[in-house]
Amino acid sequence: MSRVSPFAKEDRPCPVCGMKAVHEALWRAHLGIKHYFCSQQCVDRFIAHPGLYTGHPKTGPSEKQKGRVQIKRHKILFSEPISTQSMAEILEAVRVMMGVKSLNAHREAFYVTYDLMEVSLEDIEKTIELTLGKIHSPMIEQVKRGWIHYTEECELENLAHPSKEGGCH
Ligand SMILES: [Zn+2]
Repeated sequence: MSRVSPFAKEDRPCPVCGMKAVHEALWRAHLGIKHYFCSQQCVDRFIAHPGLYTGHPKTGPSEKQKGRVQIKRHKILFSEPISTQSMAEILEAVRVMMGVKSLNAHREAFYVTYDLMEVSLEDIEKTIELTLGKIHSPMIEQVKRGWIHYTEECELENLAHPSKEGGCH
C-alpha cells in the first residue's frame, strides 16, 4: 500500500518548532517514543539536544514544553559587499528557516533575530554558505563566530539538562 499523504500526525506537532504539519518520513525514536518532525532542520536540532524538547520522568517537562523561547539577535558581516541578487537569495533561504523571526539586510551585513530553541547561528551560517556556494564562504567574517557557536551550544546543553550543575560554562 502506497502512502500518498506526506503530512500526518496533526495531533502531535513537531516537538522542536510546534508546527502541526509533520512529515511521515521524518521521525526519530527517543526514550521509546516516536517523534515526527516538520523539516530536516528540526530533526537535526532534536538529535543535538533531545532534552530540550522532550520531558523526562526525573526532571519533568522540557524547556520547550514549558514554552521557553531564547531570542537572539546577531549581525552577520561579509568581508566584501554582496550583490543584490545574492543577498536576495540569502534572505529568501534564511527567511524560510524554522525559528527565524526577522531579517534586515544591508550591503555588507545583515541582522537576524531568531529563537535559539529552534535554530542556531551556526545553522543560519550554513544556509548562507550553501546559498553563496563554497567558493564564497570565506566572505563571512570569522570574528567571534567560533565563540558564539560555543556559547550557544553551552546554553542549549544547560537548558537540556536542568539537573546537571555547571557542566558547560
Ligand atoms: Zn519543526
